[in-house]
Amino acid sequence: MLFVWIVLVASMFIGFWVFRRQDGKLRVLMYHKVLLNESNMLTVTTAQLDTQLQYLRQQGYEFISIRNLLNLSSPPSNAVLLTFDDAYLNNLEHAYPILKKYRACATIFVPSGYVGQSSGWDLKPDPLMSVQQLRDLDPEVFDLGLHTHLHRNFADLSIDEIETEISNNIQFFRDNQLAFVPALAYPYGGRPKDKSLKNQMKQVLSQLGVTMAFRIGNRLNNWPLTNRYEIQRIDVRGTDSMGDFKRKVRWGKLI
Ligand SMILES: [Zn+2]
Repeated sequence: MLFVWIVLVASMFIGFWVFRRQDGKLRVLMYHKVLLNESNMLTVTTAQLDTQLQYLRQQGYEFISIRNLLNLSSPPSNAVLLTFDDAYLNNLEHAYPILKKYRACATIFVPSGYVGQSSGWDLKPDPLMSVQQLRDLDPEVFDLGLHTHLHRNFADLSIDEIETEISNNIQFFRDNQLAFVPALAYPYGGRPKDKSLKNQMKQVLSQLGVTMAFRIGNRLNNWPLTNRYEIQRIDVRGTDSMGDFKRKVRWGKLI
């Protein structure tokens, strides 16, 4: 009898571990820069990105784009959404060939006021893509999304300033006839701290046709989404080991 119980409990544990990965959660990974030989909080090396995507493929995760996500009532149970903030030129030079190699797709969030220049808000500015480079991106691999116009933190802005930041961002895509997905990544992951201001921000997003917005948060998202303007992303850092990456993908954060 005891043996039967042991077998039962053991199989429950094994079942739990096997199916846990197919947990119906939406995983969203947040990247910034990809460089050949440099890694830091905002930068992964090409070797790191290659190993990470290879791992995701081997584990049976399915890369999903925001465009597909918008059309699905439920994502695949192993869905991973890759995002790259700020439209760095190095994404085109170094991330693109690796994404292509693993048949992955990703969304690039574009701060329109800096396009064709560099990340002037950064401690160490790096070149950003030009309008032409954004236009020429492989649509099989990259979607473009909103990252406001001037990359200011919403936690420090009035509701009128927030509205201007988003509408100018949308206008940039329209003026340049660039396709985009109506999804926003909050610069610095920041949103208003005041609850009523935050609600006003959500109304502004809705009025402007933005259907989803991404913060940081380091958690996996339940599906269906409980709050489409608070989608959480896992912060992938070049300072993480591969073991850290695996744990973050599994749990959303290091535990
Ligand atoms: Zn940014």
